[in-house]
Amino acid sequence: MEDRIVTTGFREGEDEQEQSLRPKALREYIGQENIKQNLHISIEAALKRHESLDHLLLYGPPGLGKTTLAGIIASEMGQNIRITSGPAIERPGDLASILTNLANGDVLFIDEIHRLSRSVEEVLYPAMEDYALDIMIGKGPTARSIRLDLPHFTLVGATTRAGLLSAPLRDRFGILFRLEMYTPQELSAIVSRSAGILNVRAEEKGILEIARRSRGTPRIANRMLRRVRDFAQIRAEGVITEAVAKQALDMLEVDELGLDKLDRTMLGTMIDKFGGGPVGLETLGAMTGEDATTIEDVYEPYLMQLGFLMRTPRGRVATPAAYEHMGRKPQPNDNQEQMKI
Ligand code: ADP
Repeated sequence: MEDRIVTTGFREGEDEQEQSLRPKALREYIGQENIKQNLHISIEAALKRHESLDHLLLYGPPGLGKTTLAGIIASEMGQNIRITSGPAIERPGDLASILTNLANGDVLFIDEIHRLSRSVEEVLYPAMEDYALDIMIGKGPTARSIRLDLPHFTLVGATTRAGLLSAPLRDRFGILFRLEMYTPQELSAIVSRSAGILNVRAEEKGILEIARRSRGTPRIANRMLRRVRDFAQIRAEGVITEAVAKQALDMLEVDELGLDKLDRTMLGTMIDKFGGGPVGLETLGAMTGEDATTIEDVYEPYLMQLGFLMRTPRGRVATPAAYEHMGRKPQPNDNQEQMKI
């Protein structure tokens, strides 16, 4: 994958920096008001009943705060968190050993939970439902299964799209939350908080400029803040003003809406070579050198949020707003039909 500043995924060495910026309590978590309210009620109720919290599924594009929220849930419940991911749990035995090592009330966070294999998923079903682990002993006709009790844990699963989960797994979650992209105002509050932690001097307008260009995503906002801070230190006596933020982000080729070279290549090619679409996902992948899943999970949500791209049964279509942003005029042969939907 190309080294993009606007990538929503982790980049090397970022983990540690992110840790320091991660809110630890629900009241520090900015935005997602609906989720926070619901979660607050569920947590209070579970605490009052001295029970563990219902299993919870968080879904939404990367970088929106799913891992952060899982950590907050554990700390608000006064419990420990164990973090792992779908691809890391290769065999049923791996999951069995994680589960048996949990303590009552622990939060188990499984990122990319849609990538669990079928056989691992099957271990999870009785664990989620009955806090039990079924172990097969022997083989063939004499085989029998014994049931081990597990501690009462809370599973927090995260995925980019709820639709990627198998139905039996999805049905076993008591609470489902969809994380929304953040507004520029919410992102401003996040950048401002991070600037405080990192000891960076930033003016309100400089902060807003970063917020506007960070694609509704806190991870990108924090990353941009660090890059703009470097620029401010070398070129502008350390203060992030509006002009400094603009200059720094222009230099990084992130435009005023947060689109970078790759987004613009994608939209530009759709318009110039395909008359605005529809273009199949695989073709978009070939155009950008990204795999189809990354395009679907990482690039498209923001372009759709901006109203630049539409998913139709026949493929992706660039909208009139995308034409305008890209400075293109619709041509007579362009497929404007779909755009009127
Ligand atoms: P995900 O698990 O969805 O990929 P993370 O939880 O790792 O995203 O969030 C990425 C970073 O963004 C975190 O390190 C945190 O600093 C910041 N962040 C995410 N959500 C919020 C929020 N609501 N308020 C403040 N900072 C946030």
